[in-house]
Formats: sequence, structure tokens, C-alpha cells
Amino acid sequence: MKPMGPIPPFFEAGSDGELVIAGKPASAWLDEADAPAFVYDKAIIEAKVAEFRAAMPDRVALHYAVKANSYGPLLEHMAKKVDGFDLASRGELERVDGLDLPLSIAGPGKSDADIAAALQKGVTIHLESEGEADRALAVAEAQGTTPRLAIRINPPFILKGAGMKMGGLASQFGIDAERVGPLALRLVDAGADFQGYHLYAGSQSLSAEAIAESQLATIDLTEKLVAETGIVPREVNLGGGFGIPYFANEKPLDISVIGDAIGKRLQDRPALSETKFILELGRWLVGEAGVYLTRVLDRKQSHGETFLTTDGGMHHVLAASGNLGQFLRRNYPITNASRFADEPTLEASVVGRLCTPLDLLGDEVMLADTQVGDVIALFCQGAYGLTASPNDFLSQPKAREHLA
Ligand SMILES: *Cc1c(COP(=O)(O)O)cnc(C)c1O
Repeated sequence: MKPMGPIPPFFEAGSDGELVIAGKPASAWLDEADAPAFVYDKAIIEAKVAEFRAAMPDRVALHYAVKANSYGPLLEHMAKKVDGFDLASRGELERVDGLDLPLSIAGPGKSDADIAAALQKGVTIHLESEGEADRALAVAEAQGTTPRLAIRINPPFILKGAGMKMGGLASQFGIDAERVGPLALRLVDAGADFQGYHLYAGSQSLSAEAIAESQLATIDLTEKLVAETGIVPREVNLGGGFGIPYFANEKPLDISVIGDAIGKRLQDRPALSETKFILELGRWLVGEAGVYLTRVLDRKQSHGETFLTTDGGMHHVLAASGNLGQFLRRNYPITNASRFADEPTLEASVVGRLCTPLDLLGDEVMLADTQVGDVIALFCQGAYGLTASPNDFLSQPKAREHLA
């Protein structure tokens, strides 16, 4: 038996012992379609937003990082709950069309057409280089618009313990800190509508202390930039990187530690009293709200081990299979949803239907005794699930998505 991550604390069994998601038994989400499904539970997202609002000072706005999950109905729902959307591509800009929220776009490799589309819609562009700054100014001049620009800073420190570290290093993201002040002055000189700064130090951190430390370092860096340039930024995007527990022995973040630290530091920074602060979160807001459901097609024995073959796989849930940048494969929380109330008595490996041994959803996990036709639920699939997976690999059916 190998360990698995903790099942998020939002789920219960119905009277018949089946896992209930967003008010419906797991199997009911699948009966309509002969394909796996992702179910995103609005109530869980609302609980996360409420936790954020309670923990953070009022002057810290909440933005949703659209790349975590860009399912249309989910974006419409998020638009009512958050204060802005952070985009990573022109495609995402198209996906939020018609949703009336402040928008910003970051990411290396913005083409002139991307910049033109963003400027046309009044989106704040987070500049990743001086070259991109020059192109944004030129595109704006050709368009006859005043560009809304912010500078992404390559953090001069790292976010300790993050699943993905960015910063303190040479990077394709952002501009090295010592060159940020001169560029800000140049943008203001050129007549841009200068918005401020953005700093993103990493993703999937489960240390509130480390996150707070990086947010405080960002506030201090911003204050230095005010002293250096005399420009008071309208806004500062502090990044985020709030993680969720995926694996055994991981614990949820206590975000009140972060909120208290930011609140206290901002009280001591009168130079920034007019500046709006933003946290941009994806995974922490929506990750635990999503469950992936797939049916068992076959149960077999091989060399004394039990295999449960499902109609899903890594083409829908690449990260859970361990193939999205993980160093060591570990088990996400997984269960037999049809028998959620039953004691786990069966050690089995849950696999997908792709022709590769990498397509492993649960490696020697303990499940309730499982029969062909049962529904397997894989948790923590609300972020970096379907859109972060090679959907077309092997031309298997596309997964359905539901928001309820
Ligand atoms: C991906 C990304 C995010 C969201 O990260 P999460 O781990 O989902 O919260 C935020 N900001 C930037 C710049 C990103 O690239």
C-alpha cells in the first residue's frame, strides 16, 4: 500500500453510501454521458472566497488567475466573486469577453497582435522585458491609445518550499529588479498610464510563513522603488502561490498568517497608502472544488496485484498521473465514489485507458472493494486539470465538465 493525499474536507456520503458532489450522487453526474466528467462545486469556491475575505485586509483585492481553470460557466461564476481576472494569453482574453472586471495580462511571448488586443480592451499589460515595453508603446501609438502598463519584476528572492520556484535567478519572467526603476520612469515619460508592479515568486506553497515573507519582501521592494523613482504605483500585484494539500502528510495553509502579516506591514508603509494591493490566486480558489469522475471498465490481476482500468486517464488529469513536472510520482486523494462509506479493504492500482504505463491515477492505493461499473473519484481536480492535460492524445472521448 502506498499513501495518498487527504480528501478535501468538503465531501460526504449520501444515505446509500455514495459520494455526493454538489448535491448529486457521483454516478448521477456520469449517467448522461459515456465519458468521464469533472464536477466543480460552487459552494466550495464560495467557501474559499469567504475564507480569503475574512483573512485579508480590506485593501487587498482578490484576482482569479484564469489559467487554473478557464471553463466558461466557472469564469462567469468567478466574475461575481472576485475583483479582477489575471490572464496569461489572448485566448484567455477571448474567454472572459463580456465579463465586466478589471483585467491584466502577463506572460512571456506576447505578440504585437496580443498587445494590440489587450490595449483595445483596456487590459493592463504586465511587461516581461524592456523590448516588450518598446513594442507596447509602439503598438499603442499606432492605435492612438494610452497604454495601461505595469512592470513584472523578476523577484530578487525565492519563495521557499514552493512546488514551482520562480525568482532569485535568471528568468524569462519579469525584469531584473535593478532595472525596474529606470523603466518605470521611461514609461511615465513616454505618456503611458503607468499602473505599477507585479511580482510572482512561485506556485503551490504550503508554508504560510514563506508566502508571507515573500509578500513582505515585495512590499519593501515597492517602497524602495517609490523612493528611487518618486512614482507612487496605483497598484501592486503581490502574486500568490497559495497551495492546497495534494499528497500524504500535507496540511492546508493557514492564510490568516499571511493576511495578518500583510496588514501589519502596510500599516507601517505610509508611502504606499494610496496603492491598491492584489493577490492573484488560481489553484487555492478552485482546486479543491473539482472532482474527476471515471468508471471502472475492468478489474484484473497481474503478478498478484489488482488493477482497476477506468474510462479516464492522464489525457484528462495529467498532473494526478505525476507527469506535469513532478520529480517523484505520488498519489492524489482517490476513492471509490460508489462505496464512499465503505471501509477500504482492497489494495489496487487505478489506471487510465492510454497505452502507456505512465497512465496511473492511483498507485497501490487502498479502496473499498471495487467492481466493474463503480465510479472512481479523483479529488483536487478543479485547477490544472482538463486544460493542463493532453486531451487529444489517443483520441479518447473528451471529458465533460459541470459547474453546480
Ligand atoms: C499561474 C499563475 C498564477 C496562478 O497560480 P496558482 O498556483 O494557480 O495560484 C498567478 N500568477 C501568475 C503570474 C501565474 O503565472
